[in-house]
Amino acid sequence: MNAQSELVAQVRRTGTLPDLPDGLYLDGGFRPATSRRTMESFDPGKGEAFASFARGDADDVDAAVTSAARAFEAGWRDTAPVERGRILARVAQLILAEADRLAIAECLDSGKTLAEAEGDVRGAARAFEYYAGACDKLEGKTFPLGAGYLGYSLHEPVGVTAHVIPWNYPISTAARGLAPALAAGCTVVAKPAEQTPFTALMLADILSRAGLPAGVCNVVTGTGAEAGAPLVGHPGIAHVTFTGSVATGKRVMKSAADHVTRLVLELGGKSPVIVLKDCDREAALNGVLGAIFENAGQICSAGSRLVIERRIADSFLEELVARTRRLTLGHGLRNPDMGPVSSAEHLAKISGFVERARTRGSEILTGGNIASDPQTGQGWFFEPTIIADRPADDELVQEEVFGPVLTVQIAEDADHALELANGTPFGLVAGIYTSDHGTAHRLARRLDAGQVFINEYFAGGIEVPFGGTKLSGFGREKGLEGLLSYCRTKSVAAKL
Ligand code: NAD
Repeated sequence: MNAQSELVAQVRRTGTLPDLPDGLYLDGGFRPATSRRTMESFDPGKGEAFASFARGDADDVDAAVTSAARAFEAGWRDTAPVERGRILARVAQLILAEADRLAIAECLDSGKTLAEAEGDVRGAARAFEYYAGACDKLEGKTFPLGAGYLGYSLHEPVGVTAHVIPWNYPISTAARGLAPALAAGCTVVAKPAEQTPFTALMLADILSRAGLPAGVCNVVTGTGAEAGAPLVGHPGIAHVTFTGSVATGKRVMKSAADHVTRLVLELGGKSPVIVLKDCDREAALNGVLGAIFENAGQICSAGSRLVIERRIADSFLEELVARTRRLTLGHGLRNPDMGPVSSAEHLAKISGFVERARTRGSEILTGGNIASDPQTGQGWFFEPTIIADRPADDELVQEEVFGPVLTVQIAEDADHALELANGTPFGLVAGIYTSDHGTAHRLARRLDAGQVFINEYFAGGIEVPFGGTKLSGFGREKGLEGLLSYCRTKSVAAKL
């Protein structure tokens, strides 16, 4: 048995991971919430609490913002970019060195399968690696003012940044926000979701061991109302990166308006996967399955609508349903094809969508029911579900379920597919499967989405800017554009 299998076996025996951090991370160390209150985190694969953590509130947020502001002024903003880069590169190495433990913590906390958690941890390391290399390449411009003048621009760090993190991708969302913010010279206060607090705390500890000065990264755990709201409304915050629901995003935007705080909002979607008659069938089948059932469909960019050309719809759906029925469910640590969903409340929400679809007379091609871990009978599971052709105004076409539920829409041709694909209030990503590259790129230009995947859903990585249009939000994370989200441009013009 290797070290990881031993740790997995121990966690399965005891139900928890030893030595999880239980404090807030403030000013370079762990400490309890000012109120001394704690709350529990649940293992969705069992539906049982497995650890407790600090329940921070406005007092702790205030202390964290003060600590981050002090660290910003005390030198992080002026630390040589190459030195910032070296620290971030060490963070990437430490994440990889401690990947087993991070992945098991993520698996227990979020429910995702161990393989998915391992992928997220590698992705987090990659984010730090990418932005480590970018620190000393944040070049400004010179402006052609003519003889006797000098004009140039500087990319300055914006200041203290707030990062409100969701429960579906805890460590990867934290990393894709923190790495560019720190690379730009900003300091950080992160607020992980109350369902999944641990990997953000573990990451803060890694950052410190990699050489990040005290106060540059702070983590306040707690609920959205008690810790998230005071953070995004704090006058000391210069920029908020929020990932989560549309309803909360709107609240965050209103509260940021009070201090004219900069904002990146990443709010989910109802993303289409367009499958045309000339597609590579095997690639499309695998792509559609992964697009909706990875992470039990709890992905802002999940491909939750299959928009398929009528000519191939019947045979494609027959095979898709057969493959979906073969997917295994179970506790994430056993590495099934699909794990549980995040919470009992979320399970009820998903089930509500499917029950309402039933009462509207929808044909459920497969799945459609609440389930449990077949070995233990425990946990918060929903069967992988496919619902047959729904009209464009159906709730299942227009609203985000955020679970393993795929809605089918039938298109007559590529142009009709485009019309259906664009027909929701969201615009995060879109997928296209076709062997005609001309059609693919023509559709890519006209799709109302922040990112388009051609012939491989989720193609690309940290190098590719990511963000939405319409209700999916605005601003971009990832790529060099993500780095510029944490900078403000200063123009300097001088008469010589
Ligand atoms: P949410 O938007 O309420 O929570 C996301 C984060 O925001 C959490 O850290 C939460 O504590 C924090 N938060 C909550 N209220 C806040 C406030 N007033 N001010 C500042 N921060 C606040 O999401 P949820 O309730 O956990 O999930 C509900 C739905 O949101 C899901 O069903 C799904 O549709 C969507 N969602 C989307 C994403 C995404 O990646 N875009 C992620 C999670 C959830």
